[in-house]
Amino acid sequence: MEETIFEELRASGNLPTPAGVGMKILQLTRTDDYELDEMGHAIMTDSSLTGRILKLANSAAHAKARPATTVSESILRLGSSTVRDLCLAFSLVSERSAGSCTAFDYEGYWSTSLARAVVAQALSGRLGVGKPEEAYICGLLGDVGRLALASVFPDEYAAILSECLNQSPMSCLAKEKERFNIDHGQVAKCILQDWGLPETFAEAIQQSATQRLLEGGEKVEHSLSGILRVSEALGEILAADETASPTVWKRLGVQFERARNALDMGHKPFEAFVDGCIGEWINWGDSLDVGTHPQRRVVDLLRLVEERGGEAEDEAKPGPNSMSTPAPTPKPAPKTAPKTAPQTATAGVQLRSMDSDEEQVHILVIDDDPVSMKVLEMQLKKQGYKVTSCANSPQGLKIALETCPDIVVADWQMPEMDGMDLCRSLRRSELGRRMYFLLVTGKGEKDVIVNAFDAGVDDFITKPVLPEVLSARVKGGVRLVRLQRRVDHDNRIMKRQVAELGVLTRKLRATSLTDPLTELPNRRYAMKRLESEWSSTLRTGRDLSLVMIDIDHFKSVNDDYGHDVGDAVLKEAARRLKAAIRTSDEVCRIGGEEFLLICKNTAEDECSVVAERIRSSMADERMVIPGFDRDLTVSLGIAGYEPKLKSFNQLIKLADEALYAAKEGGRNRYICSADLDSRNEAA
Ligand code: GH3
Ligand code: MG
Ligand code: MG
Repeated sequence: MEETIFEELRASGNLPTPAGVGMKILQLTRTDDYELDEMGHAIMTDSSLTGRILKLANSAAHAKARPATTVSESILRLGSSTVRDLCLAFSLVSERSAGSCTAFDYEGYWSTSLARAVVAQALSGRLGVGKPEEAYICGLLGDVGRLALASVFPDEYAAILSECLNQSPMSCLAKEKERFNIDHGQVAKCILQDWGLPETFAEAIQQSATQRLLEGGEKVEHSLSGILRVSEALGEILAADETASPTVWKRLGVQFERARNALDMGHKPFEAFVDGCIGEWINWGDSLDVGTHPQRRVVDLLRLVEERGGEAEDEAKPGPNSMSTPAPTPKPAPKTAPKTAPQTATAGVQLRSMDSDEEQVHILVIDDDPVSMKVLEMQLKKQGYKVTSCANSPQGLKIALETCPDIVVADWQMPEMDGMDLCRSLRRSELGRRMYFLLVTGKGEKDVIVNAFDAGVDDFITKPVLPEVLSARVKGGVRLVRLQRRVDHDNRIMKRQVAELGVLTRKLRATSLTDPLTELPNRRYAMKRLESEWSSTLRTGRDLSLVMIDIDHFKSVNDDYGHDVGDAVLKEAARRLKAAIRTSDEVCRIGGEEFLLICKNTAEDECSVVAERIRSSMADERMVIPGFDRDLTVSLGIAGYEPKLKSFNQLIKLADEALYAAKEGGRNRYICSADLDSRNEAA
């Protein structure tokens, strides 16, 4: 089920994906027979990625007498699959440092993720569980499901985040499930599987998502998910913002102490361990350009817990839910002041306006002649555009690819790379193809103009540049830019609507096949399911049996306790039924107090074991729920497939007759249809 929903999320085109080299490596390594050299070369096209891989290859866990100085040495040292996974993780960090979900704190997200990663890495080394880099990757990507939901559903997720502001992480998970039919743990698992990361990563991450807080007295489990649980707690405190609420600091203090206990460490060694992690975190933050708290040490954290957390008692008194219900991850302060302060989560579910007609148009001017550059810059600024200028073309190319201007105005004649070559280079990249390119040429250069259009130039303007001509030509560009923005905007909306529609359809489908009271599949589902099992049995000759289950004297429950209690009893009965059956069987509510169990690959006589288990699970334990305290029993009728039967309806009828016989025989029992036959024959 979650796989199908994930497909729909993916169809939105907004899921986080590794950028550039990360994607290339992902494609390169999809099969097992890739060449290490190819991977090495791909990494080397990205200098910062190369630096990060080298750094890790030379980190404490791998340090040899001689440092690794090349990517291929690093691959040998770390192992190719580790390097591959690291590339994916790193390229994701650089891709998704901001986004459109207003209540989602992107900087805080990466800061906390990185803190979790370094703690996980250190713990893996310390406890000798798995490979430290693997733990690092899992730590870094541990919360990628939240990032994904924020990316695909920016507005809806903002609303959920604001609703969950003072609630436990678990209630957030439940809300996600309710709204999207999938929660961030499941999304993370699907993403990791999609990227081809090991199944163990996906499972450990999903597991830790469903149980975020450390329990008192809990000991660390020697497994990847055990490590992630402790890293989760420590990562959060490392990255926590000083201004987080007292309740949050109080909780962080508790988690800190529980982490120490879980690791069975004394105060001093534990604090030294955490200080080591903080150092690593700051270090990695610098190289990945992720915000950290460079001055922070354990003593500071403990002080904050004492001072800020101490205020929680006072804060807790008035509010109904201000105590003991942990808030979601607090926002860590970035290394530098945040560019845009994350807004408090007030965003509703309306579409954020992405129509950007009012958004300023950004123009990049590239001209090696300083005077001409200045004149162009001034004229354009006067017309209200945002202008960046640059005096040489290689630099201009770099700025264009980094800042993505809407329009590029470039001189034709420049020493290192002329305007046309610059245009050709830009057009080679996805981003560069979208820019409107205006070439400034000398007078009467007809050939240049013809070639310029071949090179991908959109328009040209001749020197000396007259302000009114420049204005007219740029306006032509602006018109196209706005058109493009509108198309992009519509595309984004369309993709989102496709995703939302998909989720909605799934949800509707799920609701129309689920009984709302017991949350068991309903009669409609049972009939569809039976139809398909029936044809599979006809095709393959496999066994198929049904058990019809009916609660005994249920009418008296309603009569004696009222309908509401009756409903609660039905729910509890459904829970017991589910607990008593095998995972391969399916129980559905097909009527008021009637249930149908479908047992595929099971012959009628084998089914009696299941039936007896169900009967005793009801009869042996008195049913005690609020407002109700009484024995409750069920009667069951079993029927198995026989070649003489014409349809599955006949099979249902046989099970019904057996059930009737069980009622007749005194209730609280099961009867097999075959026994009825023999009785009938004997009679
Ligand atoms: P028997 O042992 O012969 O099965 O007796 P019974 O009382 O269980 O059987 P009967 O079919 O006479 O009564 C079923 C009762 O189940 C009647 C109806 O009010 C009740 N019922 C059906 N659906 C619901 C429901 O959704 N909620 C509640 N509370 N009661 C329901
Ligand atoms: Mg009944
Ligand atoms: Mg009945």
